[in-house]
Amino acid sequence: TAKQRRDGAVVYDAVFDQSSAKSLSLLTELRNAVERDELRLFVQPKITLASGVVSGAEALVRWAHPERGNVFPDQFIPFAEQTGFIRVLTRWVLEQSAMLSRQLAQRGVHLKISVNLSTRDLMDQDLPGKFAEILHRHQVSPGAFCLEITESAIMDDPVRAQHTLERLHAMGADLSIDDFGTGYSSLAYLKRLPVDELKIDKSFVLNMEQDVGDAKIVRSTIDLGHNMGLRVVAEGLESEAVWALLKRMGCDQGQGYFMSRPIPATELGDWIGRWRA
Ligand code: C2E
Ligand code: CA
Ligand code: CA
Ligand code: CA
Repeated sequence: TAKQRRDGAVVYDAVFDQSSAKSLSLLTELRNAVERDELRLFVQPKITLASGVVSGAEALVRWAHPERGNVFPDQFIPFAEQTGFIRVLTRWVLEQSAMLSRQLAQRGVHLKISVNLSTRDLMDQDLPGKFAEILHRHQVSPGAFCLEITESAIMDDPVRAQHTLERLHAMGADLSIDDFGTGYSSLAYLKRLPVDELKIDKSFVLNMEQDVGDAKIVRSTIDLGHNMGLRVVAEGLESEAVWALLKRMGCDQGQGYFMSRPIPATELGDWIGRWRA
């Protein structure tokens, strides 16, 4: 993870180190990563809990670094957001996801691809136009996409975020509130924004079988979402027992290691073929 200090310096732990010379080289490396084709699209299936049907997949980026190996997004997404590089990255993910959607449709598989948007993306006035252009080029409909945004990304600049999100939604893409329950506690935006889905953060789901408090939060969130006419998805579903519990609570979809870890996008078609409802 990266932290911005008061003096503006970016501090890293773990894989990427602390000096500003290094973070400058990280930006260069990230820029090169796109050109050198080092980014990889991974996806994690989303399953309808009542039927077991695969209803979507979340796009999650990985960086196949020539020396450092497979780098996880926590190691470079925060940095990409701070430097504005996230806009390039998001476009890459949208492009790859459109290609995946097209390939799956050709195999007769229709599902929604969820793509994560960050604060910077919501401030980007050109994003809706770029999105339309990518969809047109790959002959994919906007309804094949669900765009995930976090509460904090919205609260950074609610007016501009709302404007961008309304444009994307008007085009036909679904909107999802990611990591629901971990961000700002204001529920007002839920009323104002054209949201279709709530995604319950995995921190509440992972241990909900043992932790009564977590189970209560999950149950309340499912009811809140349904009362507002939204689809509710639980992430971090790691066991059959949690699946059963969520299903009993009426949760619509689940995503987690119990069904599948994130896999290379190229393997999704075969994975779906093997998955039995
Ligand atoms: P997220 O959007 O909340 O994504 C869900 C994360 O939970 C993923 O981590 C996924 O691998 C992990 N996960 C899924 N199921 C389980 C489970 O059953 N148990 C546990 N313990 N974890 C599970 P990942 O792929 O490392 O991504 C981390 C974060 O990086 C994402 O959190 C998202 O905020 C960000 N990210 C990833 N790809 C992108 C991207 O393309 N664009 C943007 N803006 N952010 C991205
Ligand atoms: Ca997400
Ligand atoms: Ca999440
Ligand atoms: Ca998260």
